[in-house]
Amino acid sequence: MEFNIDKIREDFPILKRTVHNRRLVYFDNAATTQKPLDVIESMDRVYRETNSNIHRGVHYLSDLTTRQYEEARETVRRFINARHDHEIIFTGGTTAGINLAAFSLGEKYIHENDEIIISAMEHHANIVPWQMLCERKKAKLRIIPINDDGELITAEYEKLFSDRTRLVSLTHVANSIGTVNPVREMIALAHERGVRVIIDGAQAVQHGKVDVQDLDADMYIFSGHKMYGPTGIGVLYGKESLLEEIPPYQTGGEMVDQVTFEKTTFNRLPFKFEAGTPNYIGAIGLGAALEYLERTGLEKIAAHEKDLLEYATRRLSSVGGLHMFGNARNKISVISFVLEDIHPYDAGMVIDKYGIAVRTGTHCAQPVMDRFGIRGTIRASMAMYNTREEVDRLCEAIEKVKEMFS
Ligand code: PLP
Repeated sequence: MEFNIDKIREDFPILKRTVHNRRLVYFDNAATTQKPLDVIESMDRVYRETNSNIHRGVHYLSDLTTRQYEEARETVRRFINARHDHEIIFTGGTTAGINLAAFSLGEKYIHENDEIIISAMEHHANIVPWQMLCERKKAKLRIIPINDDGELITAEYEKLFSDRTRLVSLTHVANSIGTVNPVREMIALAHERGVRVIIDGAQAVQHGKVDVQDLDADMYIFSGHKMYGPTGIGVLYGKESLLEEIPPYQTGGEMVDQVTFEKTTFNRLPFKFEAGTPNYIGAIGLGAALEYLERTGLEKIAAHEKDLLEYATRRLSSVGGLHMFGNARNKISVISFVLEDIHPYDAGMVIDKYGIAVRTGTHCAQPVMDRFGIRGTIRASMAMYNTREEVDRLCEAIEKVKEMFS
């Protein structure tokens, strides 16, 4: 099947709307993506036709909804090529997943003076949970530095390992500057030293094929809403042996086997990590999003986005007074820039008046801004439904910003 951009745009109802009397240009996809009809309708259908709490009922509707929820788990398994369904834990999103990992792995494996490696290009969600864990356990964080192009300095990574290193937690793709990290090699290097690796895949899974077995990640964590699915749902993939070993994060209903006042035993995987009523509607919506991505074809999406990134980089590079941050050789569709002498917030507000949504600020990655000595950037992040014409409109709006502030 062809990659038919007009057809794809038709699938996303919000793209038809206007903002400030102009057709919306949505370039804030790294924050959240828009949703295709398939996703919206799949959730609407559950609420209208089958809604019932899952796993606990013998009645007809409960059984139907449970089946759809478990089918969504199987869709996620296939999408990232996990070995087993029960290695897929539904969470509230990437933040929730990393907090689960930090607590459960931390309880089991982290002790005083142990070391955890993260990088200087992490989202705050992959910094603060580890910082808190280090405080609790009196452990230490070690940081992989980044070079002027916004790439991790892998030679420095290797030097950070010591006999106290217990864990590496690393972003696959940097949300602030778009760098794609060589995670496969970095995982292998950690494994050679007997160290487990967690990957934050929040900005990777929507842009190309991720195969968790090929990467050999011990955990791989991502959010539904950044991959055309609903908010409030995410995935933590973990290797079976690891998930069996670590204690649960949240406790309560559904994650237990036997409960007496003397002792509680836990349910089997994946339920051990899904306490309480899960966001089953969200999971079903996420399943629909992944099927949409599969039907559209991840390779075609990646090719379209690569073309768009190259075009946007070329067009924006020729704008006077515009400085880009993040020129990694391997990069996905994020362009982060500043305009000379213009605060990113001021620029963002003017760009909005032209119906164009970009994000301004630190993008929850303050250490990246500190690394480049800036207060923040304007970030245009692209998705499968964006076009070259929309890039042109952004360039026109930037010229207006410059005129206004000159
Ligand atoms: N990690 C990365 C790389 C991100 O880009 C984001 C969100 O922007 C997060 C984690 C947090 O994701 P969520 O807000 O969906 O939990």
